[in-house]
Amino acid sequence: MRNRKQALDQIANQEFDVCIVGGGATGAGCALDAQLRGLKTVVIEAGDFGSGSSTASTKMVHGGVRYLQEAVNDLDVNQYHLVEHALRERLIMQRNAPHLTRTVEFLVPCFSNFEKIYYGLGMKMYDWIAGKSSLLPSRLLTREEALYRMPAMQSENLVGAAAYADGQFDDARYALALVETFTRAGGDALNYARVTAFSKDAAGKLVSATVVDQASPRSFEIRARAFVNATGPFSDVVRRLASPDVTPRMHPSKGVHIMLPLDGFSETDALLVPKTEDGRVIFAIPWSGRLLVGTTDTGYTPGEEMVVKSDEIEYLLRQINPYLSSPLRADQVVSGIAGVRPLVAAQGVTDTKKLIRDDEVEFDAASGLVSILGGKWTTHRLMGEETIDKVQEYLGGPHSPSRTSEHPLVGAMGFKWDYWQTLESDFALHGPTAHHLAHKYGTQAAQVLELAKSDKSLALPLVEGEAPIRAQVVYAVRHEMARTLEDVLARRIGLQLYGWRLAIAAAPLAAALMGHELDWSTEEEQIALEQYVAMVNHRITSAGQQPEPVPSAIRELTLERK
Ligand SMILES: Cc1cc2nc3c(=O)[nH]c(=O)nc-3n(C[C@H](O)[C@H](O)[C@H](O)COP(=O)(O)OP(=O)(O)OC[C@H]3O[C@@H](n4cnc5c(N)ncnc54)[C@H](O)[C@@H]3O)c2cc1C
Repeated sequence: MRNRKQALDQIANQEFDVCIVGGGATGAGCALDAQLRGLKTVVIEAGDFGSGSSTASTKMVHGGVRYLQEAVNDLDVNQYHLVEHALRERLIMQRNAPHLTRTVEFLVPCFSNFEKIYYGLGMKMYDWIAGKSSLLPSRLLTREEALYRMPAMQSENLVGAAAYADGQFDDARYALALVETFTRAGGDALNYARVTAFSKDAAGKLVSATVVDQASPRSFEIRARAFVNATGPFSDVVRRLASPDVTPRMHPSKGVHIMLPLDGFSETDALLVPKTEDGRVIFAIPWSGRLLVGTTDTGYTPGEEMVVKSDEIEYLLRQINPYLSSPLRADQVVSGIAGVRPLVAAQGVTDTKKLIRDDEVEFDAASGLVSILGGKWTTHRLMGEETIDKVQEYLGGPHSPSRTSEHPLVGAMGFKWDYWQTLESDFALHGPTAHHLAHKYGTQAAQVLELAKSDKSLALPLVEGEAPIRAQVVYAVRHEMARTLEDVLARRIGLQLYGWRLAIAAAPLAAALMGHELDWSTEEEQIALEQYVAMVNHRITSAGQQPEPVPSAIRELTLERK
């Protein structure tokens, strides 16, 4: 990818075939699809790539066992198709980015033989729908097997567990990999640039968008033959920019996750809590050496802050603790993340738990705007395909087939599960760092490590004793359009989700490295550091914990090469 300044200069006042508004999973999926079909495409993202719902997910590549349960209970054919499509896409997502995905077995604890039969049959149905896309066959575990694989599981009255496989992925890096794969295919992408208005021709069709750079007072026009609205939960705002009188369709709901130590849980197996007090399921999934627990499903008020609150932590712990031998505590929470589900309102349904998380391509005949509404991460590729089919129909040219299902993402070419060992020996790395880099960048990790060849200090850890290294910060600025400390520490390196306090500890060095790359003054660096620490501390205090003091900035940074 270019750096951000190069991307801005390249895009401003240009003309494209397709302009995608929104650079989350959906927008990036649409962009890659369009560009690979030969359409000259640009993506405009108001924040950072993937910084909306796309980094707040449960990180599951799944058909959705809960949707299957609802399909059966409600005899709902739409839910059934949602599961079927998602299970097919699950395999494609894994195949196109093996470095960012893996298969996890989920254990459903059973406290009676009836539960064992009920969940066992449900999982067999899940296998059957997956057909050739099945990852591993489901099976029943004895009480001993279940406790051996997950010692943290409640043993009293346990008769066994039903085990089934689903996918897991790194949502933040997957979004970046989609954007980078798109730019390598010749597309243009810009983050921190908001579409604020459209212009129309005499027939009322959209011809250009006004884009306001969020990093400078600059604004500019982008002309395109077609515009796609891929703004997730905010889709109604952009629909109304095109046609002010349209009826709102989005019905967003908030979901939070918390991160805890993995003690007593497995590195490879997850726990599914089959019944919550509000009739849903929640998951406890191993994630990079931590335990990710989520999610909630509550109403979202426009403008509401996306932080995890202490009552939401209490709710999650109340649901999971009955299934554990020793209860998890709120003070063990090391981080959390909150996001908004972009649900499309189905006719006559107000309960967000029952809204279908399927997608809909909406065509506004008056303005020509194509909106892709709803959906989930797992189906982002298929949604991109359906959207660009509609775009091609609108443009009236020849129809070319989608090519994304067979298109590996950046970092996937040549990747094998033991690639980390190649990195370990070729670059004399510690095992955890080699593993971390292999699963963040795939075979692209070699490019990150090349930076450390000319400056050995860049191979040092960002925080003593942790896997991420300093070269990742430099790489993020030079090649991944990172602009803020959160871009680097949250989405490109993943440290913020691994632990709020660790991210604060890494912030002074990360700020110094970014400042060096971006020519920040000492004051700019200090401001960036203080703003970042204040933001993370706000998350810490919202979760009911004591804040961290602002660490001192690093005044002397020895870097041999810029
Ligand atoms: C709690 C939770 C758990 C989930 N778990 C899973 C899961 O495990 N598996 C799964 O498959 N799915 C899951 N999902 C669903 C999935 O995360 C979302 O469906 C998906 O990320 C939506 O992507 P998106 O690109 O449509 O929206 P977003 O990621 O929100 O992207 C929309 C983007 O549009 C940008 N934007 C808005 N307005 C403008 C504008 N005017 N100009 C330019 N840009 C603009 C925003 O900044 C934003 O980045 C989960 C969702 C949530 C909230």
